[in-house]
Amino acid sequence: MNLYSVTQLKDLLERHGFFFKKNLGQNFLLNESTALRIASSAFETLSHKKKTLAVEIGPGAGALTLQLSELFDRVVAIEIDPHLIPILEESLAGRDNVTVMNTDALRFDYKALERDFPDYEIAVCSNLPYYITSELIMRFLESEVPFASVTVLIQKEACARLISKPGCADYGSITAAVSYYARAEKLFLVGPGNFIPKPKVDSAVLRLIPHAHPPVEVMQESFFFKIIRAAFSARRKTLPNALGVALGELFTKEEIAAALEECGISLTERGENLSLNQFAVLSNTLCKIKDRK
Ligand code: SAM
Repeated sequence: MNLYSVTQLKDLLERHGFFFKKNLGQNFLLNESTALRIASSAFETLSHKKKTLAVEIGPGAGALTLQLSELFDRVVAIEIDPHLIPILEESLAGRDNVTVMNTDALRFDYKALERDFPDYEIAVCSNLPYYITSELIMRFLESEVPFASVTVLIQKEACARLISKPGCADYGSITAAVSYYARAEKLFLVGPGNFIPKPKVDSAVLRLIPHAHPPVEVMQESFFFKIIRAAFSARRKTLPNALGVALGELFTKEEIAAALEECGISLTERGENLSLNQFAVLSNTLCKIKDRK
């Protein structure tokens, strides 16, 4: 069976009575060379000092899974839709190095991978369901699993947000949060014609290489992320106003103004212009004020 042939894929899906579910972000890859290019982009990040494991979210009918199973020693594919399980059993028949798990990737315990595959170097590689792109990426990064890389096909706009820089229109709290954990790079664009059904927008392959150590020192990680979210909670407001509204229960306006001045940040500045280092210095300064109270 050729999973990259429209007629053969449609035949497989129809035989199993499968219908695409928009609410699960089901746009399946149809282009074999694109699938291979994505799998190779993940594979080339590995050191090969250990055996290799790919973790795929949402294998769909198996277009990317097939390529991953060619390159990696093992593949764990997590699919939420039970209707795809018998389809995957057929499309991946004989691929003994693939384990399909019928579960929600947002509830999956990624830390368990380290326990179950102690001798493996692990990379995430996936054509992600677009409706949970950011949640999943943050889940991988926060999981404390030493992923060699996270290579994901996502909407072009989402990719632009994740690789943006301070002062750019796309820079937001998710950009700053991701940059704390990893270096983000856009690899290549993938047009709608590569999928069935065709999405309305372009997609792009994003690759994240987790930092060995965070690039900035923060006193309390959770508080640091709280400050970032607060700074972006009202984009058009200046920092004293945005932080004043979002952190009103913790700090007076005077304390916020004093902290900004101590950090050398202008009172007319907006969150979208702060670098990760400025966020770290600001959150450490506010943290000290909070702890003194
Ligand atoms: N990898 C396949 C491909 O490239 O052809 C399918 C990719 S499709 C964009 C996204 C896949 O994620 C679908 O198979 C969908 O059912 C699955 N999915 C959606 N939400 C999920 C979740 N919360 N956990 C696991 N899989 C999910």
